[in-house]
Amino acid sequence: MPEDCIFCQIVDGEIPSRSVYEDDQVMAFLDANPLAPGHTLVIPKEHHETLGDLPEDAGSRVFETLHRLAPEIEAAVDADASNVAFNNGEAAGQEVPHVHGHVIPRFEGDGGAPIHAIAG
Ligand code: C5P
Repeated sequence: MPEDCIFCQIVDGEIPSRSVYEDDQVMAFLDANPLAPGHTLVIPKEHHETLGDLPEDAGSRVFETLHRLAPEIEAAVDADASNVAFNNGEAAGQEVPHVHGHVIPRFEGDGGAPIHAIAG
């Protein structure tokens, strides 16, 4: 892993995080700068920069986790919906070069902005 990867340091416990879920391949934790209550990041434990770099099995596990957690996170914060999204590559606004999916709970009346207007 690159020594300076913040998310690899979270996986290794060198940087604290507020855990939502963890298994052998995947971690989910609360975003440190949440766009909404319950804003969660889902990452593969192994370091890969973008979705294109991610082996199929790890990609499947990340998606399975997003699929399972998104409704649970919505329920936990009493949200009406959620944005589930990846900024995939630097030009797309990816700031941390370790694949991560965002689950951003949404609430009726919160402005209804689509993902491109709220997660950059
Ligand atoms: O998709 P993007 O790379 O822009 O998102 C990175 C996310 O990682 C941001 O939402 C940021 O708040 C989060 N982050 C974090 N903990 C850190 C560094 C970044 O939750 N230590």
